[in-house]
Amino acid sequence: MAAPSLRRVGELAARGLVPDADAASLKRVAERYAVAITPAMAELIDPADPADPIARQFIPNLAELAVAPEERADPIGDERLSPVKGIVHRYPDRVLLKPLHVCPVYCRFCFRREQVGPEGETLTSAELTQALAYIRTHPEIWEVIVTGGDPFVMSPRRLAEIVRALDGIEHVQVIRFHTRVPVVDPGRVSARLVGALDSEKALYVAIHANHPRELTPTFRAACRRLATAGIPLLGQTVLLKGVNDDAAVLESLFRGLVEARVKPYYLHHPDLARGTSHFRPDLREGQALMRQLRGRVSGLCQPSYVLDLPGGQGKVPVGPSYAAPARGAEGWIVEDFQGGQHRYPPANREE
Ligand code: SF4
Repeated sequence: MAAPSLRRVGELAARGLVPDADAASLKRVAERYAVAITPAMAELIDPADPADPIARQFIPNLAELAVAPEERADPIGDERLSPVKGIVHRYPDRVLLKPLHVCPVYCRFCFRREQVGPEGETLTSAELTQALAYIRTHPEIWEVIVTGGDPFVMSPRRLAEIVRALDGIEHVQVIRFHTRVPVVDPGRVSARLVGALDSEKALYVAIHANHPRELTPTFRAACRRLATAGIPLLGQTVLLKGVNDDAAVLESLFRGLVEARVKPYYLHHPDLARGTSHFRPDLREGQALMRQLRGRVSGLCQPSYVLDLPGGQGKVPVGPSYAAPARGAEGWIVEDFQGGQHRYPPANREE
């Protein structure tokens, strides 16, 4: 059986992952926001490196006690957009289904950090039935995104029940799971778990990965098991100061994901979660990084850089633009990947 996750500051100190001198003050952080790091992630940390990008994602930091005025408990308005417990209905054609708020790790930058935790809510079977009834009675729902928390911490039996229930709703055509498990606890992606995802509908798995060091051989094996079962894999990355705000790191991450059969889908600008300002770059820095990736890596390796609007109005692509109307003339000026500018004609409007 796999070793359990480290959940207490004392355990982190005993493993040399936090200095003894900081342990007492870090307990204050742990009282406010949940802490957990899996053995797979703890092993990747170099305790001698104070800037280790894996540690930065999972080891509590005193900077989390500083709350910036613009930060919010519910940064993308999940609560306001929840018609019944466990459902978030933000866009007309899709909903989030959140069966639980438990994760195998607690990321220090998480946008749901005030909802997730070992005591995080899990839907009772009556609540899950009610959430599924909401989906069943809204024929405009084409896609269901099963998220949380991390749905892959559920047992294969419970996962299969959810997949079967969604399979039985005619208007739901696409099921998408969001998970960090293939990275942080890849052994959990067992044949039984993969079997539980067998669906009559198009079922996608979106995997959250932020640094190339996370792409271990066991991660790649987990992706292979999912892909061999015919499940398309997508990648989600959060742009994080001190973790991956560097073109070479992003390049290596996105190449590694594609090599593991995972198509990078979104590069998320971090949300305004409380106590996370030390992770947030400026939008301009994110755009500059996206520009550096253009031409440097294959289009297959390029995600969309997106921002979730605070308050819940949805995702907006915020990547750089390469085409602008030509000044004082018809048509466009379009920039190539080396910065060269080219004229492009307007459409011929003659009918
Ligand atoms: S795994 Fe996802 S939901 Fe869980 S703490 Fe990390 S970012 Fe948040």
